[in-house]
Parts: sequence; C-alpha cells; structure tokens
Amino acid sequence: MIIVMQPAAKEEEVQHVMTRLESAGLGVHLSKGQFRTIIGAIGDEELVRNLGLEALPFVEKVLPITKPFKLVSREFKAEDSVFKVGNCTIGGSQLVLMAGPCAVESEEQLLAAAEGVKAAGAQILRGGAFKPRTSPYSFQGLEEKGLKLLARVREKTGLPIVTEVMDQHTVKLVAEYADIMQVGARNMQNFYMLRELGKLQKPVLLKRGLSATIEEWLMAAEYIMAGGNHQVILCERGIRTFESYTRNTLDLSAVPVVKYLTHLPVIVDPSHGTGNWRFVPAMSRAAVAAGADGIMVEVHPQPEKALCDGAQSLTIERFTSLTKELSQLAAVMGKYI
Ligand code: PEP
Ligand code: MN
Repeated sequence: MIIVMQPAAKEEEVQHVMTRLESAGLGVHLSKGQFRTIIGAIGDEELVRNLGLEALPFVEKVLPITKPFKLVSREFKAEDSVFKVGNCTIGGSQLVLMAGPCAVESEEQLLAAAEGVKAAGAQILRGGAFKPRTSPYSFQGLEEKGLKLLARVREKTGLPIVTEVMDQHTVKLVAEYADIMQVGARNMQNFYMLRELGKLQKPVLLKRGLSATIEEWLMAAEYIMAGGNHQVILCERGIRTFESYTRNTLDLSAVPVVKYLTHLPVIVDPSHGTGNWRFVPAMSRAAVAAGADGIMVEVHPQPEKALCDGAQSLTIERFTSLTKELSQLAAVMGKYI
C-alpha cells in the first residue's frame, strides 16, 4: 500500500505515520518527492487498512499498489532511482557506457580492451569470468582467476567492473571483486540466487530472460529488492522470437515501458540483442534515442580471436567511433557521457 501525505504535512506527521506502520510490523519505505511525501508500506494490506490512517488530517489518501511488483513500481517511488558506481551515476543524466570483452581471457586481452574502451569514453568495464555457455565443450571462463584479472585491471585503469554471477553459491565470491553483479538472461529466474543478491548492498544488473515477459522480469527485480537491496539496474538484451537473421530480437519498446512502470535505471545490450557487430552501432543509437540510461557493448581487441562472442564484438576502433556518435545523441537527449 502507499500512503500519500498532504503536501503541507510536517516532518513529525510523516514520522508519526511511519511509526504506526512499523509498530504494526510493516516494512516502510519513504519517498520524498518535490511536492509530496509518499510512504510505501510493505506487508499485509489488511494490516495497513486496519490502521485507519486515512482519518488523519495530514494523510491525503491510502492506496493499494495495483501492480504485482511493488518496490519496483513507480507507484511506490515516483522519482527515478540513481545509483553511484565509482565516479559515475546510473539512472540520472549521465549516459553510462559499459564495454569490454564477453569473457576475460588473459591479462593482456583484458587490459588492451579496458584501456581502449576507457580512452573512447566508457565508464565501466564488462567481462565475464563465469560464462553460461550453451555447449559444455565451449570455453567456460577463467572463474576466480578471471575475477582476479578484473580486479587487477580495475586497479590499473580505475574502471569499475561488471561481471556475471551464475549461482547462489558464488554470490559472495563474485561480490568480493565486482562493482556491479550481473545476472545473465539464463538466470533471471534463479530465485535462490536472486535472494542471495537481495542481501547485498551492491548494484545488480538484471538481464531480461530469453523468453521473459516484462512482468516476469520486473518480478525478478522485486525478489532482489524484497531482500533489501534496492540497487537494481534492468538490462534489455533481446528476446527469442521466430526471427533468425539476428541472434535475438532486441525489444527496444521495453525501454519506455519499463521507464513508465518502474523507477529503476534501464540499459540496453545491443551485442546479445543482435549477435552481429554490424548492427550494434545502429541499435546502440536507437537505445539512446528510446531513453535508455546506458548501453552495454562487447568490445574485443581482436574479435576474430575471441574465445566467446567474437562475431558480435566491436573492435576498439569501431567502439571509439560509436561513442563519438553517442555523445552527440546524448546531448540531444539532455544527457552527457
Ligand atoms: C553476457 O553478457 O556475456 C551474456 C552471457 O549475456 P546474456 O546473459 O544476456 O546472454
Ligand atoms: Mn557475450
């Protein structure tokens, strides 16, 4: 339920409502907008109704949240959520560029990618140490050794790192190294892992599942937030359709839909969304025009030698020309890189 306070409600009146809710055993989330204060009550709706808060002169109304996702919804929190990662902010007016190889392969490869994308304007380095591969015979990632390389390259370049976690048992390990925990498309509904991620106080990049509806995706975000971690970044990476000229169908309509339904930042991954480096620049531009808070792009110093996803990886030169275009587009959208 949400409790909308009268515009003139005083601090102690807001506190009074919060205390009443807490004493009834409800979770409370305060959201102070420019004109109004809204208090989100988490728990049994009947308990909130029984408190009769609407009778208080400083309470304007008490409303149920109509959506199945609560903490995620704009009804619950009207203003955009903004998270700080290193020196950059995600969800505000900065356009965030996350770039790097699909998989961490070696220190030389990762450092070359990191230095290249940093010089081009990327603020966050991506790279998988644990790789969810379709075939058990494909390169599975360097695992902890890969995490150590990411940490070393972060030290050298200053770029924060986003890297994937694949199960609930490695959440703690990955969290020791990562600045942002990535949940891959194949694990979007790994509820045990989502619960573990909910216990962290660290941003989670939640990729949309291969065949997930927007509602299923947002319910997965709700799992993380319900555990107490409110730093969720949504990532559209394409969904499976009948089309086979692209690896997935990048659902850019999800960007305005999710911006409308939630207060969470949304980024777009045009690399997995298309599966072909040729189409990555156009879909990156389209993502920015659609209102995305950032993009995540695969970049490899030598894509033809990549152990994973070379066909969709940009060279450093191509990424550099893309970021030049994106910084012009960002300005049109009232953002900066
Ligand atoms: C990745 O980012 O390398 C990855 C495996 O992505 P997805 O989970 O979207 O397939
Ligand atoms: Mn990949």
